[in-house]
Amino acid sequence: MNWRRLPVWCALGAIAALTPPSLEAGPARVPIVDLHVDLSYQYTYQGKPFESATGEFRARDLERAGVRGVVLPLYVPRDVSSEGPRLQDLEHSYARVFGALLKTPPYALPGCGRAAGKVQTWLSFEGAGPLAGRPEELPLWVARGVRLFGLVHSYDNELSGSSGQVASRQKGLSAAGRELAQGIVALGGVLDVSHASDRAADELIEIGRIAGVPVVASHSNARALAPHPRNLTDAQIRALAATGGVVGLNLHQRFLARRGSTAELSDVVAQVRHIRRLVGIEHLALGTDFEGGIRPVPGLGNIAELQTLATALREEGLAEREIEQIFYKNALRVLCPAR
Ligand SMILES: [Zn+2]
Repeated sequence: MNWRRLPVWCALGAIAALTPPSLEAGPARVPIVDLHVDLSYQYTYQGKPFESATGEFRARDLERAGVRGVVLPLYVPRDVSSEGPRLQDLEHSYARVFGALLKTPPYALPGCGRAAGKVQTWLSFEGAGPLAGRPEELPLWVARGVRLFGLVHSYDNELSGSSGQVASRQKGLSAAGRELAQGIVALGGVLDVSHASDRAADELIEIGRIAGVPVVASHSNARALAPHPRNLTDAQIRALAATGGVVGLNLHQRFLARRGSTAELSDVVAQVRHIRRLVGIEHLALGTDFEGGIRPVPGLGNIAELQTLATALREEGLAEREIEQIFYKNALRVLCPAR
């Protein structure tokens, strides 16, 4: 399926499904589209129930929390086999997640189609090493609902250098990585630079720029405030924004801390303030990293508490329209473009 040729009604249907519920007493809930929740990892590799996992993203909380959509990465741990993640492991994760989505309300199956009353889903890769040298596999994964493509996780692979390895942080894309990235954008898939080394991130953003398509960082913050290699430099945020992409704010304290490893709600607000001033509100989104083994900031410990961030952003002076852009509209612009 070519996502860039999806009919207009597809995206319009998605937006209609995201219309806020009728106002109740108290502050309105802002709809949420989260670009990164590791339910697949908890369910497939940690033996946790899909509907509740560790408690950070429980199915029964989603309606109350205002969640209208979520991207679920098909993450495969490095130690899954002696040779690392294999194609059969991606297949296994996909089969597990698809089966769980089928039987777990309120989730819809992956894609931008109409899903009134349901939580829309999309899939992503957080490490696509098994596809190295196999770009012919890509159309199948796009058709299955993989929307964001991160080539690498915390260790270098056949495609790319990782931000997680100090010795090779300047290692960029391999020839196979460039080939796969170009295949992804040609199919209308979205490149995701979270976890990539600085050099690989620069190269991925450049591939998106040349192709004229958005590139995202699904779950990363600004390094200018939180000096961690998983975060983005201001130059990278500017380049990524110039493609029309978004930065999904990560709630892991380690990626928000200005020094040390602890952070709080005010650090999330500071990230919003910084990125908004740098590139504009159109390039901010949410990529909580819930269920990914994170240590969330106090007060934002699970999806049911995320409206606390909306309240803090109102107090910061953001308009309701801006908070909506961060919480779901910018993410949807990238996930379901109206073409
Ligand atoms: Zn991650």
